[in-house]
Formats: sequence, C-alpha cells, structure tokens
Amino acid sequence: MNADMDLRIGHGQDAHRLRPGLALVLGGVRVPSPHGLEGHSDGDVLCHAVTDALLGAAGLGDIGMYFPSSQARWKGAHSLALLRRSWRLVAGGGWAVESLHVVVSLESPKLSTFREEMEKNLSEAVSADVGAVNVTSTTTDGLGFVGRYEGASASAVVLLSRRKR
Ligand code: MG
Repeated sequence: MNADMDLRIGHGQDAHRLRPGLALVLGGVRVPSPHGLEGHSDGDVLCHAVTDALLGAAGLGDIGMYFPSSQARWKGAHSLALLRRSWRLVAGGGWAVESLHVVVSLESPKLSTFREEMEKNLSEAVSADVGAVNVTSTTTDGLGFVGRYEGASASAVVLLSRRKR
C-alpha cells in the first residue's frame, strides 16, 4: 500500500427476524425460501451490514441516520438502492473500496449458488472490482436465534483508501 494513502477499516453488523411467507432478499438477490426477513425496508440484512461498515469506516454515522424506520418513505425500500445512496456519500469523501467481506449467518437455505450474483450486485453498488468483494455464509449449528430459524444476521468488514489530504 502506498504511503501517501489513508486507510480506514469499517465493521457493520445487523440482524432481522425471519417470517414465513416473506421474500428473502440478500445482497439484492431474491433467494427462494419459505421464509423471508422482516424489516421496514426489504429486510436485506446483508446490504444493511455493508452500508454500516462503509459509513462507519468513513466516519459518517450509520444507516439509521439516513434511512430511519420512522419515515414512511423508506417503507419497502430496496436495501441495495439504499447502499448505492450511502456509497455516494462515502465516495464523496474521496474513498474507494479496497476490499469488502460480508458473512451471512442463516440456518437455511444454502446461499452458495447465489454468492456470485450477490458479489456482483455489491461490487457495482460500491464501484469496486468484483474480485475485491466476498460474500460467505455460515450456519450456527442449531445454536441461538439463527439456529432456531428465528432470524438471520450479517457482519461486514470493509477497507477503504484515499489519497492523503
Ligand atoms: Mg437492518
């Protein structure tokens, strides 16, 4: 890494409740499933964690400041679109994404076949090379709220860089 670059690490975390009959949207991808995530927006826990990681790294607060669930205008919003809007704020500060990794904790369904599409969506949303964006998933082996099919969580880590000012 170049010595005249500033680097910032961001970490975002989120969890949403699973409900039967709702759409399951993760990383902007509709995943076939008997249950989906509840939320004021589309409940895309993956995009929410990534948004918070980006905003946090840039010192710009968190997703709730910009898209509060108290505001009707964000009801049913596509979280990938909210991520794009958040990225414009971060990019306005001169930042670029060096790497982004997000881990989704979900008991089922398996997400491996949707990973590539999620990574493509995320990389486009944050103007990063698709090779710099990684989505992985895990179960919790039956433990906790994820293991009981009560919800899903996501944790994202991002590295931002910009030229020193
Ligand atoms: Mg959320």
